[in-house]
Amino acid sequence: MLIYNILYSMIMNKCSRCHQGDVFVSKNPYNLSMIFKLHKTCSHCHLEYEREPSFFYGAMYVSYAISSGWFIIWYALQSFYLNWDTFNFALFVMVFIILVSPLTLRWSRLIWLNFFYGYKKEYEQQKNHLSPQDHSKSA
Ligand SMILES: [Zn+2]
Repeated sequence: MLIYNILYSMIMNKCSRCHQGDVFVSKNPYNLSMIFKLHKTCSHCHLEYEREPSFFYGAMYVSYAISSGWFIIWYALQSFYLNWDTFNFALFVMVFIILVSPLTLRWSRLIWLNFFYGYKKEYEQQKNHLSPQDHSKSA
């Protein structure tokens, strides 16, 4: 259930690997002063979210795909139901994409994180909160 795991992490703002710890500090994507604030590591499985400097630059491609998706949805509605004139439609889509951009930013980063760290049940169930490195040291 890869899609379900990505959707859960994306909508609930949860760590892609364990689905327990929060990724963004603020639960509200429209809290604009906190929009870029991520926890450094997962509070549950200690996954380091930004694994290298500028790791989330790649999320721009996801963001582009999401914005294109919004446009395609509105374009289909425009073509079949709305039939607004082109200027009003372009203005509407522009305003809509600006209004959903905090959500798009959050979703794109969470999807990007999911590309690299998929959900693993063993991390969710881990009780002692040790990172995999700690496990290998103790073994
Ligand atoms: Zn985690």
